[in-house]
Amino acid sequence: MAEHTLQSIAFPTLDEAQIARLSECTAAVPRTFQDGQTLFAVGERNMKFFVVKSGEVEIVDYSGDEPKTLTVHRKGQFTGDVSHLTGTPAVVSAIARGPCEVVEISRDALRRVLNQCPDLSDVILQAFIARRQLLRQSADFTGLRVIGSRYSADTLRIRDFLAKNRVLFTWVDVETDPEVDRLLKQFGITEADTPVVACGHRLMLRNPSNGQLADTIGIRQPLEKTVYDLAVVGAGPAGLAAAVYGASEGLGTVVLEQTGPGGQAGSSMRIENYLGFPTGLTGSDLAGRAVLQANKFGAHLSVPTPVNRLEFDKAYPVLRLEGGDTVAAKCLLIASGAEYRRLGVEGCERYEGTGVYYAATPSEAQMCRGALVVLVGGGNSAGQAAVFLAGHARKVLLLIRGHDLYKNMSSYLARRIEQSANIELLCNATIRRMYGDGHLTAVEIVNNKTGEERTVETPAVFSFIGAVPRTDWLPAEIERDAKPGAGKVAALDRSAAAVSAGDQPPRRVCRGGCARCLRQARCLGRGRGRDGSPVCA
Ligand SMILES: Cc1cc2nc3c(=O)[nH]c(=O)nc-3n(C[C@H](O)[C@H](O)[C@H](O)COP(=O)(O)OP(=O)(O)OC[C@H]3O[C@@H](n4cnc5c(N)ncnc54)[C@H](O)[C@@H]3O)c2cc1C
Repeated sequence: MAEHTLQSIAFPTLDEAQIARLSECTAAVPRTFQDGQTLFAVGERNMKFFVVKSGEVEIVDYSGDEPKTLTVHRKGQFTGDVSHLTGTPAVVSAIARGPCEVVEISRDALRRVLNQCPDLSDVILQAFIARRQLLRQSADFTGLRVIGSRYSADTLRIRDFLAKNRVLFTWVDVETDPEVDRLLKQFGITEADTPVVACGHRLMLRNPSNGQLADTIGIRQPLEKTVYDLAVVGAGPAGLAAAVYGASEGLGTVVLEQTGPGGQAGSSMRIENYLGFPTGLTGSDLAGRAVLQANKFGAHLSVPTPVNRLEFDKAYPVLRLEGGDTVAAKCLLIASGAEYRRLGVEGCERYEGTGVYYAATPSEAQMCRGALVVLVGGGNSAGQAAVFLAGHARKVLLLIRGHDLYKNMSSYLARRIEQSANIELLCNATIRRMYGDGHLTAVEIVNNKTGEERTVETPAVFSFIGAVPRTDWLPAEIERDAKPGAGKVAALDRSAAAVSAGDQPPRRVCRGGCARCLRQARCLGRGRGRDGSPVCA
């Protein structure tokens, strides 16, 4: 989207009639603020939504070295961004400039408007999405700072966690960033203390776990002590679709996700075969939009919340979470998907996160700019990754076990690879060994037909060699298939209240956890569909 279009979508001006409607359909409160008073401050949760009736409200970013004015809202304009829907803390502050009159609307009331007034909803939601996009694109906005080495697996884990959860942050690479000495001194730490997470002038955490990080920056939503109508395990595309359909049908819906929304799709830089997106979109955008949609309908998304075990209490499934908490629901949707198979190469484990990667997103691409990288795999995910990495690396060596790129890859992708000047295809090729010193420096490649060997210097190997289902947390009595997407997971014997979707399709449930299936789920508290048959038959 052109920059000026994005700006005008991000900062629309509501007319008198729209402001009057907003005031009518919410418990809107007229308020006045004096010069310098804070309407909401960075880090605040559940901040109110404000429409300016007169005067000016300045939006200030305090995350960098100096405070910066991002924009000034005037008559008819409104504050806020996606945090209103996701319940995450404000990333900026809003301060009155001169005396100003505003209309104040609570978060719950705003959600009602978004559900009940489609015309206002479109303007407000599009503005929220565009504002985040502008911040994400801005070279001036710092957000959180992650200071750590490109050769540290924990640094990559923290960056990956923040990126998946769409937290705005800047990575300071201790190996290359010219600012690093000044920042280490400013925070009173040494390189040995990294990775660290800081905000503005405040050092927040040293090498935090994902859970500590989420709790400190306020992105983990507390779970309610209730029996939910629908619990969904996994926030990949299937889990998010189920959350949208479930919540929009009025079901009390909770989604429990161990890392971040998006699942495997979240690591795709260009999805082109999803219906309705003719120009393609990134998996991260898809997930971000789905999360907003689910939140809009009132679904509760809890991240990071790994589910360790499934038990049954009479007819109800009970999910046991890391840390001992439990979540009970009348219906459980298993959408824990699949994870990428590890490369079974000598020395590989040592370099995971420090040279061996299972995703190709901007986080990984930043580390291989200008380098030769090796990519293993012949499916679509490998093809997408190769095309994406070719835009960042000097050269991509693509290794496939067979001799025909078209065998497992869509032809549009295979053609793009053939046309890319800096992707070299090596057929009948596998990696035999990996070398390095703390981090990966080289790999030995062998041709399986001729036995010919070749050693290539590289800082990065990307592996996309198929997936295995994530079903290790399920009890033994739940029958499952060894292959994801094979269509034979039968999870309905012990209780008709557990069904699965997505890359773990059960025998009788649709792939997306569709509205019809979930509507029937309302009956699942009694264990059977309305007609007495197992659900979704
Ligand atoms: C790089 C790449 C590119 C791709 N490109 C395309 C494409 O262009 N078009 C296409 O159609 N498909 C594509 N795919 C495949 C597509 O992404 C998957 O089919 C899809 O993501 C499956 O969705 P899912 O929700 O079933 O599972 P997943 O995406 O695997 O999501 C499962 C989620 O469950 C979570 N989870 C797992 N276990 C637990 C637990 N115990 N507790 C809590 N949470 C848990 C995981 O963290 C994950 O977020 C691509 C895949 C990859 C990796």
